[in-house]
Amino acid sequence: MSERISKGTVASPGIKIGRAFVYQGDKVIIPKYHISSDDIENELQRFEMALEKTKKEIIGIQKQIATSLSKEMSDIFTSHLMVLEDPHVEERARDTIRKEKRNVEWVINDISLELINSLNVIEDDYLRERIIDISDVNKRLILNLQKKKAASLAHITEEVILFAPDLTPSETAMMNRDYIKAFVTDKGGKTSHTAIMARALDIPAIVGTLNGTSLVKSGDMVIVDAIHGQVIINPSNKEISEFEKYQLDFLELEQELSKLTHLPAQTVDGEEVFIFGNIEIPDEKTIIKEHGAQGIGLYRSEFLFLEQSLPDEDRQFNEYRRVVEFFNPLPVTIRTLDVGGDKVYAYTQPYKERNPFLGCRAIRFSLENEELFRIQLRAILKASHYGKVKLMFPMITTVEEFVRARSITTEEMETLRSQGIPFDEEIPIGIMIEVPSAVINADILARHADFFSVGTNDLVQYLLAVDRISEKVAYLYNPLNIAVLRFLKQIVTVANDHSIPISICGEIAGEPRYTMILLGLGFRQLSMSPIYMYQVKRIIRLVGISECEELLNRIMERETTAEIEQLLEDTLSKKFPDIYL
Ligand code: PEP
Ligand code: MG
Repeated sequence: MSERISKGTVASPGIKIGRAFVYQGDKVIIPKYHISSDDIENELQRFEMALEKTKKEIIGIQKQIATSLSKEMSDIFTSHLMVLEDPHVEERARDTIRKEKRNVEWVINDISLELINSLNVIEDDYLRERIIDISDVNKRLILNLQKKKAASLAHITEEVILFAPDLTPSETAMMNRDYIKAFVTDKGGKTSHTAIMARALDIPAIVGTLNGTSLVKSGDMVIVDAIHGQVIINPSNKEISEFEKYQLDFLELEQELSKLTHLPAQTVDGEEVFIFGNIEIPDEKTIIKEHGAQGIGLYRSEFLFLEQSLPDEDRQFNEYRRVVEFFNPLPVTIRTLDVGGDKVYAYTQPYKERNPFLGCRAIRFSLENEELFRIQLRAILKASHYGKVKLMFPMITTVEEFVRARSITTEEMETLRSQGIPFDEEIPIGIMIEVPSAVINADILARHADFFSVGTNDLVQYLLAVDRISEKVAYLYNPLNIAVLRFLKQIVTVANDHSIPISICGEIAGEPRYTMILLGLGFRQLSMSPIYMYQVKRIIRLVGISECEELLNRIMERETTAEIEQLLEDTLSKKFPDIYL
């Protein structure tokens, strides 16, 4: 009997069939002992040497990746160097060795664990995934202190599908693509460096299976279906032949789809649709551009605020400018900080709220911390001089909030003007529509804003009163709920009536199964992560607006989500039998 693991997240799409290889990585043993006063200098020297060696190793990997992959990918290791070169950490380690007379492995491991624990309590995917950068560096340092070589995947000399509790970005980057055909990890999410690396290497990967590694043994036959995020262990012959066909179809389709890069996203009846990218970390910009995106519809700026210290104006400006210049003359929509609630950032004490999603989040947080907000606004405004920037505020609930945020922006423009610092005087300022009150008051907001961008990830949760991260009520979290569709229809109508540009940047914009519905609702600007950009574009090029509207009308007559799901499924499987939706 085959067994299925269906809890994973697709980090890099594809289908592979083969033998499993379970890799547990290095088991690092931490010796713990006290040293005498006479040995302190010796211990500090040992630390110094291991630091240097580790730096050299990381720089070596960085160079190798810059040649074999890209400069962008090699930049991932800059964050490893930053962990290693953090003067506070280094100084603290030296101090502790001197004062507490403990050996360096013990001290270093304690400091790393402390950093990891402080990140572990934070419910933010991006930040939690930085834990692996710290573990990676810690492991290297300790192995170097013990003069051991890091285990490597380089010794694998036959084709395998790799299973591991977790993989570090360096392990992923150094994988031999001739032998490692796909990988599956228990930990990690879409935005981890390991996932980004997998996409760059074009290795199908599923991450976050929780316990996948414990269910499979080396040598087991497995199917990795990194389309739907499932793994089949010990498949039957029937399942193997089914997936072999699936695999061929997928490869053919991928080849076919990559031809779409430079073709317009135009429907058969000539309606032009714009596809933009969602960026979570700047490294993703290359992949997004390679997929033919027409700019960035959502640049989440949170990543900068997840570091140990507050990013100053220059640091922010340089990061924004990098992306803005890269896409110039295409637009880059930068969203101001969306932290607070569940997304806590590193340098504040996590402040417990009873209902964090209804608490001091996003624009509420920025208006509460005005100086922080002004610094970010100046950095964004300055970056606007280097390309086409649009500025957007998250979680706008009331008209007053938007008016206040806009007037602070105007004040900062005045400051820059008086200092002779150039910026785009015409920068469009828009609103994320993700709270029901913003939909209901959209006609009023339209008088103040230059554009709308619909964030369905939050809109669905606030409209249906269902926590977007709770597994218990996940069955309710469905964008096909008729209430959501009615709401979306309403917001598009108001935007069109007021001639205000509207885009959609929630996850549904990047899921091919919703494309016809979104077109039927009237959306013409979709912003998404690059994974399914081609599939979405292909669907756009195969449908007419009138048939999308017709489908939507039929859907709107249904009463339950189950009926809507069924109708959609029937329509799509008939119309696109060769696209996996
Ligand atoms: C959304 O809510 O749909 C959105 C795009 O924002 P985030 O997922 O960052 O909250
Ligand atoms: Mg949101």
